[in-house]
Amino acid sequence: MELLNIKKLDLADKKVFIRCDFNVPMDEFLNISDDRRIRSAVATINFCLDQDCAVILASHLGRPKGEVVEKYSLAPVAKRLHHLLKRDVILANDVVGEDAITKAKNLKGGEVLLLENLRFEEGETKNDEELSKKLASLAEIYINDAFGVSHRAHASVEGITHFFDNEHKSAGFLLEKEIRFFGKLINEPVRPFAAIVGGSKVSGKLEALINLLPKVDKIFIGGGMAFTFLKQMGYDIGNSLVEDDLLGDAQHVMDEAKKLGVKFYLPVDVIAADKFAEDAVSKIVTAQEIPDGWMGLDIGPATVRLYKEGLADVQTILWNGPMGVYEMDKFARGSSNIAHFVADSYSTTVVGGGDTADLVQRVGVDDEMSFISTGGGASLELLEGKVLPGVAPLIIKE
Ligand code: AMP
Repeated sequence: MELLNIKKLDLADKKVFIRCDFNVPMDEFLNISDDRRIRSAVATINFCLDQDCAVILASHLGRPKGEVVEKYSLAPVAKRLHHLLKRDVILANDVVGEDAITKAKNLKGGEVLLLENLRFEEGETKNDEELSKKLASLAEIYINDAFGVSHRAHASVEGITHFFDNEHKSAGFLLEKEIRFFGKLINEPVRPFAAIVGGSKVSGKLEALINLLPKVDKIFIGGGMAFTFLKQMGYDIGNSLVEDDLLGDAQHVMDEAKKLGVKFYLPVDVIAADKFAEDAVSKIVTAQEIPDGWMGLDIGPATVRLYKEGLADVQTILWNGPMGVYEMDKFARGSSNIAHFVADSYSTTVVGGGDTADLVQRVGVDDEMSFISTGGGASLELLEGKVLPGVAPLIIKE
């Protein structure tokens, strides 16, 4: 898949609209706790600034649902951008209101304007044509560098592309890199190729699992989703997370794996707790012996050992979803052990999903991974084999 390329645009002295994904996590004092997404956008922004473009940046943050909500203001992002770009960043008070329009109009080459949170406008998530048109009218060129939101047909992601011809729009460097990486991973991975899939639910990852089956050699399941599989295998899982309506689908995944010769790994032991809390009483039990009323909140040490052995000979690892409730120290050890092992391996390691990216950063091994995707939902949809609505208008060759 080839995308419209930013390097082929005539950018000199132009007014450029860059859709970024600055949807970063913040603490209760509105301090940005992880600025990876902002840092990842800098290459495209600087490329435009080097060509004396007037740069208009736009992003969403959180879910203000069409209303102006102070805590979702992009002001902290403007501040961080100022440090990263080492130049002033003008923040508009609105998205397409008088202030934004005036500031965009007066913006000169080399200057940077950040619009307020796109989702302060109701039309953003509805892909409203009027809003797309207003956003498009601010600039001469449109660049999408927001991989994390490209699976959404929103006004600034999809609708807006219809107002620019192929000479006036393109993918940014980040979007291009994400699409290239996942394309290679799915279509021509170096084998053996293993997927580690965890997280809370089977439902969110079912399609991705089914789509991955014909492509991978091994699958390792962890996290809450493992219990739906274990229950289907006839184990008592106590109060562990389970999706009873998906037991049939779990069986289907296991049958398909068998049919395709994919080695399918499930936890053989878990850390069971008497409640979902950091101060819970916990113990290591085999998957066969989870006590009534207890819940599995992490994979156990035997599973870690088993997974390490299974992963020892693979050349490519795709990891999406934590192995346990890693937010609580007590249930983070399984994820942390696997993270260290994956980081130390000589294979190509790709981490997808916001939680997994957060996890590897907490463990301190993010620099050791080959690639960390900035988009959880978007990368899952790529793995499901879908063409993302924000990417489709930017494709020149299949
Ligand atoms: P997801 O968004 O589906 O990738 O799930 C990530 C979430 O799954 C994290 O917040 C984890 O705390 C949670 N999780 C992982 N393992 C378990 C488990 N065994 N029981 C409940 N939640 C879990």
